Amino acid sequence: MCRSCSEEYESRLLYICPKCLGALEVNYEGVSVSRSSFESRERSIWRYLELLPIEDRGNVVDIGSGSTPLVRAYRLGEELGIRKLYIKNDTLNPTFSFKDRPTSVAVSKGSELGRDTW
Ligand SMILES: [Zn+2]
Repeated sequence: MCRSCSEEYESRLLYICPKCLGALEVNYEGVSVSRSSFESRERSIWRYLELLPIEDRGNVVDIGSGSTPLVRAYRLGEELGIRKLYIKNDTLNPTFSFKDRPTSVAVSKGSELGRDTW
């Protein structure tokens, strides 16, 4: 769905709204999930599959990204005046970067769309 003009499109290879060049985002209408939906699932980004633009789990390309820990930053929190400060340790992702999450989703969606070149 286009953020600017609200035009809706089927899932396909589309970067921007062809009508107004606005940014596109996933429409979550009809998606029903709760915290308990996710808690019993494997700890990876794919536990949130209903919220990702992948239609068939069989197209998932999993490189083991996501579910990195939050680490309590006691001294930095004290320095900044924040009582409970946590830092996400994304260096535990396969390429040491938070970018592994969107890349996994992009490669999976590309696979789903039949793309074999990146
Ligand atoms: Zn638009």
